[in-house]
Amino acid sequence: MTINEKVLEIYHDYYICPHCLGRMFSLYATNTTNLERGNSILLALTMQLHENYLSINEKNDDTVNHLRLLAEKAKFVPAIKVMEKEGLNFDNEITEPSCYLCDNIFSDLTKYTLEAIRKLENLDYESFLVGTNLNGKIINKEDEFKVRFKILGAESFKSHFNREVGKLLSTQIKKSTDFANPDITIIFSLSFDSFSINLVIRSLFIYGRYNKLIRGIPQTHWDCRRCKGMGCVNCNYTGKQHQTSVEELIIPEFIKVSKSTGAKFHGAGREDIDVRMLGKGRPFILELQNPVLRLLNLENLEKRVNKITKKKVKIRDLQFSNKNNVISIKTNAENTKKLYKALVQSEKRITKSQFNEFLILLENQLVGKKLSQRTPERVSHRRADKVRQKYIYELNGRFLKSNLFEFTVKTQGGTYIKELINGDKGRTTNSFTELFGAPLICKELDVLHIDI
Ligand SMILES: [Zn+2]
Ligand SMILES: [Zn+2]
Repeated sequence: MTINEKVLEIYHDYYICPHCLGRMFSLYATNTTNLERGNSILLALTMQLHENYLSINEKNDDTVNHLRLLAEKAKFVPAIKVMEKEGLNFDNEITEPSCYLCDNIFSDLTKYTLEAIRKLENLDYESFLVGTNLNGKIINKEDEFKVRFKILGAESFKSHFNREVGKLLSTQIKKSTDFANPDITIIFSLSFDSFSINLVIRSLFIYGRYNKLIRGIPQTHWDCRRCKGMGCVNCNYTGKQHQTSVEELIIPEFIKVSKSTGAKFHGAGREDIDVRMLGKGRPFILELQNPVLRLLNLENLEKRVNKITKKKVKIRDLQFSNKNNVISIKTNAENTKKLYKALVQSEKRITKSQFNEFLILLENQLVGKKLSQRTPERVSHRRADKVRQKYIYELNGRFLKSNLFEFTVKTQGGTYIKELINGDKGRTTNSFTELFGAPLICKELDVLHIDI
C-alpha cells in the first residue's frame, strides 16, 4: 500500500491534524518538521488527484470522491479550493475538527510553554530539557490506530511533544536544551483534557576545603546513639550526639543563599572528632538540592560562611564542581599523603638523649616502610575488619618534657595515627609503643596537610 492509499484510508475514518499525519510517516524524509511533512503529503496527493481529474483518461468517480475526502474530512485548504474551482459539490462544514490522535494539542502549544515559563520564573538555570508523562488513554488510542493502519514509521506522541515544546521554549526563554545534563527538567503530565508541570532541578555541586580549628566536633552530623535521632533526655531532645559539626556549621548559609531544599556534605575522608584539620584544609563537596539560585558569588559566600563559623571552621577555595568529582574525591582520599602532628605522652620518663636514640630507631624502623594495621576496635562498628598495609613517608620528633613529645608524621591516607602510636594492643605493627618498649599515647592530633 502506498502512502497515498494509506492516507485516504485514514481520512475515510478519522480526522487527524497535519502534525499527526506527518508524525505517522516520520520515518520517511528527514530534515523537516512533522507539520511540513503532513502538509506536503496532503498537497502532493491533492495535486495527483487534480491532475487525474483534469486528464480525460483518469477522470472517474474515485478521483472526485478522494478529492472530496481531502476537502471534507482532512479540511485541507488546497483540496477545498480545487473542489470550488472545478465546481464540484462537497459539504463545507466550518466546524473545527478535533484530531483523533492529539485532540489538537499540537495545533497550539503556547498554553504549555506559557505555564512552563511561569514555573521557571525566578529560577537560575543555563539549560533545560522537556520530558512528558503521557496519560494511558493517549498511548492506547495511538497504539490501536497504528495497528489498524499498519503504521510502522511513526514518531511517538511524546518525542514530538518534547521536541516541539522544547523548540518553542528555547526561543522564548533564550536557553539551550541539554540532553545529558540539564539544569532543569520540565516534566509535563499530559492527558487530553488537562496537564500539570513538575520541575526537576539538578543539584548544584560546590567544591571547597575546610579547616577545623577546634577539637570536639565531628565532620558530619551524628544521630544520638541512644535514641537514633528521635530525641531523648540524653541528647536534650536534639536527636544529635554532638551539638554541632563541620557540616552543620557551613551548610545553612549555602542553603539560604541558593534557596535549596537541603544539602549533602561529601568529604575527602574525615578526621576524628578530637583531631583538628589545619593547613590548607580538607577537600569537600557540597551537594545543594533543588537550588532556586545557582549562579552564586562564591567569593562572597565564602566570606559569609567564615564570618558565621569563625574560630571553629574556615572554608576556602570554593569552586563549582560536579557529581563525578564527588566520587573522585572519595576514592582519591585513600591515595593521598597526609601530614600529622601528634602530641605524645609516655608513662615512662626519659632523658633527651634517650629520646634522640628513640627517634633514630623510629626513623630506621618505620620511614620508607609499610606497617600492617588491623581495623581498630574503636571503628570496627563501621569499617570492615581487615589488615591494611600503610606506608610511612616521613617522621620527625621533638622532646618537650621527659614524658611528653611532639611528632610529625607523613603517611599514606587512611592510616590510623593514634593506633600507630599506641599499637592498639598489637593490632598495629610496627608501632611507636612497640619500638619504645613502654606504652605511649596520642594526647592531641592535628592534620597539617593533605597532598592531593
Ligand atoms: Zn494531532
Ligand atoms: Zn537522644
